[in-house]
Amino acid sequence: MTHTSPPKRALSRRGFNAALGAATSLPLLGRKAFAFESADVIVIGAGLAGLNAALNLEQEGYSVIVLEAADYVGGRTLTYDFPSGPTNAGGQTIGPYYARVRDLAHRFDVPLITPPGRVAMGNYVSGELVSSADWPNAKVNKTVGAERNVQPGALEFFYLSNNNPLPDVESWTEAEQAHLDVSIARYMINKGASEEALRLASITMNVFSLSTGSALAYLRDIKRLQWGIATSDNQNTRSTYGAGAADGFEFNEVAGGTQRLPEAMAAALKGDVRLNQPVRSVSMTGDNVEVKTFDGSRFQSKYVVSAVPFSVLRNIDVFPHFEGIQRTAVRQSGHGNTVRVFMEPKTPFWDDDIGEPGLYSDTAIERVFARSNEEGEIVGIDCWVNGNAAFRLDQLPTEAVGDFVVDTLANIRPASRGKVDVIKVHSWAKHSASGCCRHVFEAGQVKEWADVMAKPHGRLHLAGEQTRSIENGMEAAAKSGERAAFEIMERIS
Ligand SMILES: Cc1cc2nc3c(=O)[nH]c(=O)nc-3n(C[C@H](O)[C@H](O)[C@H](O)COP(=O)(O)OP(=O)(O)OC[C@H]3O[C@@H](n4cnc5c(N)ncnc54)[C@H](O)[C@@H]3O)c2cc1C
Repeated sequence: MTHTSPPKRALSRRGFNAALGAATSLPLLGRKAFAFESADVIVIGAGLAGLNAALNLEQEGYSVIVLEAADYVGGRTLTYDFPSGPTNAGGQTIGPYYARVRDLAHRFDVPLITPPGRVAMGNYVSGELVSSADWPNAKVNKTVGAERNVQPGALEFFYLSNNNPLPDVESWTEAEQAHLDVSIARYMINKGASEEALRLASITMNVFSLSTGSALAYLRDIKRLQWGIATSDNQNTRSTYGAGAADGFEFNEVAGGTQRLPEAMAAALKGDVRLNQPVRSVSMTGDNVEVKTFDGSRFQSKYVVSAVPFSVLRNIDVFPHFEGIQRTAVRQSGHGNTVRVFMEPKTPFWDDDIGEPGLYSDTAIERVFARSNEEGEIVGIDCWVNGNAAFRLDQLPTEAVGDFVVDTLANIRPASRGKVDVIKVHSWAKHSASGCCRHVFEAGQVKEWADVMAKPHGRLHLAGEQTRSIENGMEAAAKSGERAAFEIMERIS
């Protein structure tokens, strides 16, 4: 996988209170097996959560070592440097309410830009290509009543943001809201959704499936977003992280790609970020924690922050083991996938059919988004598949995924035939150490698990997007790192 080059300054070995516990005359491998380095806190994972935990701890004078499995920092904010320009494979949109992310960008001189507006998106439904303008009266539009005026890709917001029953975002864990912890399908049916609306909404929703995903967790995310979209009356412009959604609110992106932010954060750390160091065990005895990585390196600390998804944490050997409901949550929590296929158009082929470069479809390739550069010129046509459909694509060898997407696009949109080149296939489950796109609560799990997702386990403190309470995406990750750091500071002082 091609990555942008890691930040050199952050990665140089600097003086921590490293300790050698073995004779230095041992050969390298033997020495590694006995030597250990120590710091006040070991942070596992150099995504936004882990890096923000490390920064907060260092700011208060604690020594920190960050261990990162991948060969780059930033986790799910990876940016590819394509010839057409920097392109985000993961986190991108910075909402108006992302206080921490904005503050970090400001502190570390990482410029933010206002992205060009969203590029128009047509539809391919039940075998027909239909422009967004023609959709309400199209023969293949089998939705019912008010649904008919809503673009297929906006049906989730039509049903989950209109009359959102949560009085405020904090209330999602309150007992009075527990009745909403049912499947999204059940919630939408109760709101009068037609079968066709359910089918079409299942393409865009970032859950495994509508019949399993928790409506309550989704309503929480949308309630937070509604702070930003309250003044927008165009439901067809809404999206999960709010891109282009608000009138009068500022949505931003990081200039040069999101990964520039975690790189700047890593560069500002006094301690090292150790790349290519996947953690394999965390062992807590008395007031000491020992962390081992796969190459035999050993680290000791007073506390540890796990800033990896639970889908990763469950494969790290933690002793003593998690117990009770928390054990179940760590072992079983769902982490969805997104597969992205980055393509470049050779010509503006969309001008030869419905005129809209983006496409929502009810096929296996789901959605295609047009990507523009900072000047607003369309430079990419990127396929975006999530939910169970992404895991289905993962069954194909990576090389075959690109061909499958291009062929399917050519079949549903003949004008594109021979007009697009595949640049990169990226499956978050298959091609990243994070192993997922995002945490997903299934119906019934909010009631059961919300209280234990961020609960410290002995000297192991939990951060990462899956521990979020009210914030979304990157802001949730940054906030979780800050929270974990403060939990530790309170215990140390
Ligand atoms: C396709 C996509 C689009 C998105 N769009 C947006 C958006 O527009 N706006 C928004 O706000 N958010 C968005 N998000 C979500 C946002 O990117 C994430 O919520 C956030 O970056 C998660 O940060 P994190 O630190 O919790 O986890 P991660 O970034 O996953 O960090 C975890 C780190 O741990 C490392 N690791 C894994 N295993 C080990 C191990 N054994 N030992 C050591 N290290 C390990 C990983 O390599 C990784 O660096 C998007 C995400 C995706 C995937």
